[in-house]
Amino acid sequence: MSFAELGLRTELLQATQRLGFEHPTPIQRAAIPPLMQGRDVLATAVTGSGKTAAFLLPILHHLLPKRRGTTRALVVAPTRELAAQIAEHLRDLAGQTGLTGAAVTGGVAMEPQVQAFRRGVDVLIATPGRLLDHFQYPYARLDGLEYLVLDEADRMLDMGFLPDIRRVLRHLPTKRRTLLFSATLPAPIVELAGDLLENPVALNVERKSAPAAGITHAVYPVPHELKSHLLLQLLRQGPPRSVLAFTRTKHRANRLADFLERNGIVCARIHGNRSQAQRTEALAGFKKGRVRILVATDIAARGIDVEALGLVVNFDVPQVPEDYIHRVGRTARVEATGDAYTFVSPDEEGGLRAIERHMGKRLPRHTVAGFDYAKRPAERLEVPLAERIAALRARKTKERARATANTERRAAQRTLADPVGNWTARGNPSGAAPRRPAKPAPGPNRAEAVLAWVRQTAGRPNHGPGGGRSRRP
Ligand code: AMP
Repeated sequence: MSFAELGLRTELLQATQRLGFEHPTPIQRAAIPPLMQGRDVLATAVTGSGKTAAFLLPILHHLLPKRRGTTRALVVAPTRELAAQIAEHLRDLAGQTGLTGAAVTGGVAMEPQVQAFRRGVDVLIATPGRLLDHFQYPYARLDGLEYLVLDEADRMLDMGFLPDIRRVLRHLPTKRRTLLFSATLPAPIVELAGDLLENPVALNVERKSAPAAGITHAVYPVPHELKSHLLLQLLRQGPPRSVLAFTRTKHRANRLADFLERNGIVCARIHGNRSQAQRTEALAGFKKGRVRILVATDIAARGIDVEALGLVVNFDVPQVPEDYIHRVGRTARVEATGDAYTFVSPDEEGGLRAIERHMGKRLPRHTVAGFDYAKRPAERLEVPLAERIAALRARKTKERARATANTERRAAQRTLADPVGNWTARGNPSGAAPRRPAKPAPGPNRAEAVLAWVRQTAGRPNHGPGGGRSRRP
């Protein structure tokens, strides 16, 4: 089947040709015809399947004959990166059609987005939080909306966005077409689909998510503390190519990136503690090939689409099998090929077995020739949680002790300056705001404070305010 057979408008066919799309992918073949007929769609589509064009092409086809100066399609995505990715895809597909689009996501200025609402761009691509921020204002009306797409709905569920999605829905017209794309279909998503979709066409619903063909999977058993050294060795001995490495936590992402940098590997990092500007810069550097290695956590990496990505490294075994599919789906996009390495330490064997069960096959184990599996690393990648908590507690105790000493010293100084404690009773002749608290401490505390001060300053003449003497008699 060709794109022309799908009945898309000429401008869109030209766009697919410009992008080098020779044939529609399976999800495009399945989703475009019912969407052209105006049906609601519930689709399980894995990352890299071409799902974005599967929903954008038929929507653009419907929007095309008449621009109305009002927003007619809204795509909601879980992360800023995915929203940016969809906006880029929209630009590629609609660039020559005159249709307009804008991304409405957090971490950047509101004002250009306000203008997008006011101008009524044809397609808005938004993350739920920022969209709700806009909905507080009267300019943010989407009364002319005809299409709503919820993309990567299962990830929205994981990120706790479903209540936000339901809040967003209150601002949208009920008469519209709704499309829900999700890699997996956990029960809350099925329930949401039941509430939102009208007589939908369900695509691939029965199919378990599976990584794209063309990926070569390899498992590297390795002691926990040697993972970063193993990665370094594989990077050094492997062919130069773009590598995306996933860690379990933001902390580990930082530590791994620091380690690689110390060893002369230029890398970027992307995780939830980085600012939007830092995330955008990291991604841009990676996509343009300025940095070869991107270290990421799962959530931030959603929507990363890098054409020449050759290798995905699961530095830590993902917690759920679906995350494995999402992670390795970053390589071997559509028809390309790529490698997926998974580092597994003894305590991660269970997680790996769950992935293998999900995929219905055992993944091949490899050892790296010449790598010293018995070596004792000089540094630890991660300080264990218990140690981090203990260090934090010790610091807090020290800070508290310092704060108490400061408070006592200040109280003592105050008392010495004003031993009778009636500053407010005497009034403030200048009329300025009092520099001392309006209510001095009552008698006994004051006595203690004086004592504390005396203890502190004993043997140090002229140390108190006014050269060791009260300014007030
Ligand atoms: P997606 O699953 O929407 O994130 O798309 C993954 C990648 O596949 C993107 O880089 C698209 O540009 C590309 N793509 C989408 N449709 C096709 C197609 N029919 N042929 C080749 N590449 C495609």
